Amino acid sequence: MSQMPDKAKAKNRTRPGGGKTAKMSDRFFPNQFPDYVPPPEAAMAGEEASFSRGEDSLTMLLSLPHPALSETLKRSALDLKDSVVRETWELSGRRVKDHTLYTGVLGTAYLLFKAYQATNNSNDLKLCSQIIEACDSASADSSRVTFICGRAGVCALGAVTAKHAGDERLLNYYLTQFKQIRLPTDLPYELLYGRAGYLWACSFLNRHTGGETISARRMRAVVDEIIMGGRRMAQKGCPLMYEWHGKKYWGAAHGVAGIMHVLMDMQLKQDEIEDVKSTLRYMIMNRFPSGNYPSSQGSNSDRLVHWCHGAPGVALTFVKAAEVFGDQEFVQAAIDAGEVVWSRGLLKRVGICHGISGNTYVFLSLYRLTGDQKYLHRAKAFLCFLYDRGQRLISEGKMHGGDRPYSLFEGIGGMAHLFLDAVDPSQAKFPAYEL
Ligand SMILES: [Zn+2]
Repeated sequence: MSQMPDKAKAKNRTRPGGGKTAKMSDRFFPNQFPDYVPPPEAAMAGEEASFSRGEDSLTMLLSLPHPALSETLKRSALDLKDSVVRETWELSGRRVKDHTLYTGVLGTAYLLFKAYQATNNSNDLKLCSQIIEACDSASADSSRVTFICGRAGVCALGAVTAKHAGDERLLNYYLTQFKQIRLPTDLPYELLYGRAGYLWACSFLNRHTGGETISARRMRAVVDEIIMGGRRMAQKGCPLMYEWHGKKYWGAAHGVAGIMHVLMDMQLKQDEIEDVKSTLRYMIMNRFPSGNYPSSQGSNSDRLVHWCHGAPGVALTFVKAAEVFGDQEFVQAAIDAGEVVWSRGLLKRVGICHGISGNTYVFLSLYRLTGDQKYLHRAKAFLCFLYDRGQRLISEGKMHGGDRPYSLFEGIGGMAHLFLDAVDPSQAKFPAYEL
């Protein structure tokens, strides 16, 4: 998201003869971190300290062994979580103005659930449950149906929280509510507002409540609609394409990368698998020479390196493709997209949608896929940058705090989630996207 403000800003900066570099580089900090150097074989067993010791706080942080660093990040995450609760919930008089996970208080509930999983603190689970209850009332008449921006997120997270709290009655209540969600016929297909976003909520629910809470038949009907919709918009060489607000987006939030990501968690027929693979291959063939991905079909503007638009979101889709199909070409595409994130991904924002936190998840995802320490090293570099510099740069006005500075997708809520994920990097999952 945040496409419009970025566009407007970019326009203001464009000047005749103004180099592309100047325009691009003020979106991100130059990455001055040393890249990973494999240790000599004798030291491999210990596998630590890929950064050398230094005097300043950032290099000192980087040279910490993983247990010490993750303890530091976890403490910070819990402090951040308390600030997020205060700012988004307590100071608003516990009233819900925005019930979405994206910018609203459901994101706070999602973070509380993550904190509960990390610490087993039942107060976090209780508060999470209270917030979801308020979101349930606030979203009762909403026609939005997705996990990230709609009613399905409220009901699915409500059900999973109730299950963890051992509250059978509440679990059944949220499941019933979820099953009453109807998809409007003119619903788009993308992740934030469309069919893919509803399907993701079904997968989340089934994953966390066990088995076929949402039946395969129900999900199949939606998969059929998505496949049919994609084939109707097929482009030459690209069997599945979609439009949102008149544009054929490629990225995770509104585009084909996000839709393919969700489809790959479904039981697909052989011809559908082939279409998904060919669509992904089309994207690889038509990426920018830099390795980045256009935000939409036909766009020549190689600017955005965000989860929502550009290489980071696409990288996660290729990681998924590699995990599901096992093809080396998708492993390579994920690695290539990760290179763009390493060189241009230290964004001047903290969030997960279009900030450093979201881009850090790309390295964690690549680490999960390949087991290569290089990606852990890169994740650690971005994590330490966020911890050491993030809030200071925001207060100095050198970094954008996000339009909703405490939210899960645009603000420090997402950063707190990432810090909690750093404790066990092999299990890290991009919130509301990686299952
Ligand atoms: Zn975004």
